Amino acid sequence: MSEEPKQTKIALVTGAGRGIGRAIAEALARDGMHVVCVSKSESSCGSAAEAIAEVGGSATAKPVDVSSGEEIRKACEDLLAEHECIDVLVNNAGITRDNLLFRMEENDWEDVISTNLTSCFHWIKSLGRPMTRKRWGRIVNVSSVVGLTGNAGQANYSAAKAGMIGLTKSLAREFAARSVTVNAIAPGFIDTDMTSSLDERVKEVALGAVPLKRFGSVSDIAEMASYLCSDKASYVTGQVFTVDGGMVM
Ligand code: NAP
Repeated sequence: MSEEPKQTKIALVTGAGRGIGRAIAEALARDGMHVVCVSKSESSCGSAAEAIAEVGGSATAKPVDVSSGEEIRKACEDLLAEHECIDVLVNNAGITRDNLLFRMEENDWEDVISTNLTSCFHWIKSLGRPMTRKRWGRIVNVSSVVGLTGNAGQANYSAAKAGMIGLTKSLAREFAARSVTVNAIAPGFIDTDMTSSLDERVKEVALGAVPLKRFGSVSDIAEMASYLCSDKASYVTGQVFTVDGGMVM
């Protein structure tokens, strides 16, 4: 008996231009999905999509400033005119604007909350409904260990990352009856552009807190995302997976 051909799943990864998001986009493409690579700059998501195509994967680029709800809504309208459903959504785009609270400007607070947290609300609100109608979907929010522990100098970032965890757990409950899972990954210290600019002293202290005695690589996070977005993880929802070399136990 011939099997029905499997429909290619469509994934959208934000912040796919560099670092963790790019590794997740590449992993999902290797898993056979078509990946919509979103980042702020056209050249960044464009080169990520090209790199995927060069090794035989399927990807397109979509520049979107995720700090704007209007840009997200417009992008989703375009995408849903083209695809019946985005099956997999990875909210990964993020920024830091670190400072101690008394020195933190209001726009540093607002930029971090809108880019890291409010963006997830807009993407999920626009793309979640077709997933629930289809009765299959995967949402993965890339939070951080500091969303669990807090961190001096990162009140804005920690609040956004903790907010992503509350959002994940609430929506896991809202969407469970429709077989749409919602999970979060909380990376520890991962080698990317975001961490390369930190001064050596800060890096040394951070490394001292990692039992596995190394910084993580982007593929450490991509492997977890690949699992959570697969059929293998169909009974996993509302969870936060720390991938941090044992920092938070
Ligand atoms: P990264 O190397 O700095 O890359 C960030 C990505 O996000 C880039 O592709 C960037 O787009 C995109 N981005 C930033 N602001 C955006 C906006 N307004 N609109 C659209 N895209 C935007 O960061 P990373 O280290 O890979 O971090 C990825 C995620 O993991 C973030 O949410 C971060 O908070 C989280 N995380 C990272 C670590 C770590 O140690 N690296 C630890 C815990 C959590 P462009 O390429 O166009 O600039």
